[in-house]
Amino acid sequence: MLPSAVIMDVSWELLKNIAPSPLTALTAAFLDQRDIKVWIKRDDLLEMPLEMDDHAFSGNKWRKLKYNLMAARQQGFRQLLTFGGAYSNHLAAVAAAGRIFGFETVGIVRGDEAAAFNPTLTFARQCGMELQFVSREAYRHMREDRNWEEWRRMYAQAYILPEGGTNDLALQGCAELADESLAEIQPDYIALSCGTGGTIAGLIKGLAGRSFALGFSALKGDFLSEEVTRLLGDQAPARNWAINADYHFGGYAKVTPDLLDFMNDLNRRQGILLDQVYTAKLFFGVFDLIRQGHFPSGSVICIVHTGGLQGRKGLFRS
Ligand SMILES: *Cc1c(COP(=O)(O)O)cnc(C)c1O
Repeated sequence: MLPSAVIMDVSWELLKNIAPSPLTALTAAFLDQRDIKVWIKRDDLLEMPLEMDDHAFSGNKWRKLKYNLMAARQQGFRQLLTFGGAYSNHLAAVAAAGRIFGFETVGIVRGDEAAAFNPTLTFARQCGMELQFVSREAYRHMREDRNWEEWRRMYAQAYILPEGGTNDLALQGCAELADESLAEIQPDYIALSCGTGGTIAGLIKGLAGRSFALGFSALKGDFLSEEVTRLLGDQAPARNWAINADYHFGGYAKVTPDLLDFMNDLNRRQGILLDQVYTAKLFFGVFDLIRQGHFPSGSVICIVHTGGLQGRKGLFRS
């Protein structure tokens, strides 16, 4: 038994009983003009049982980690190992989760050690995460070959979470987003931001055809549909989903003045804080498609705010 077992049990009880995040209605003149109703599923407001939150263990990252943490614990692991970029929401979430639930954590970081003192990695270290840096080049090879063996060997005792946290248990956690989103409203579309595609794949499974999942890729390129199909595997339900790849704003973590204006404007007018990597591109995309008349009038759209606010620290990177 770990010495911190009692504290951990308290945390687990809290984790299992986290209240569903709120659904809030968005009001705006352009929505009325098009007769479109927009709800926001506020996973950014999930209330977590921790004293040092920093928005890190929240949003879709907590959904993706939930069953992984339970599995790691049940299987007796004491250490979590994962991978990510220097501003990765997933790395920050794993670091925070380790701190809360009493796991040691190791983060394999893309890039050189110069990043070690950026706000995200400083937070991760404060949570107790051990950081190992891998050159961009080596990291890319490792990712393309899906070859984490070197690290697996080095940390043979660790429970391995892939980059971005996407695996079957992550999909199981994200599937719960479906029932939660459909409990109070009947959206025709559920829109969300995609990186690895794990969150939307889970949502699609959970929906089982009850609504249309519309993903907005935060990355440039058209590979994501294929990736989501792969993640869904044999159990792929009817194709009640699509990926829009038009709102990446130049690629992953790239921003434009238009995007930042939009983000600041929504915060000022609606009091909703977005992050520049994922959710700002999503909201921009949905609003733009509404203005273009892409959605039939009378449509109800649920936009999932997947959190990621710790990534705003990257806005001020030098
Ligand atoms: C990681 C992240 C995503 C992407 O999730 P995937 O499951 O990798 O597609 C979307 N939004 C936010 C805020 C994130 O942090």
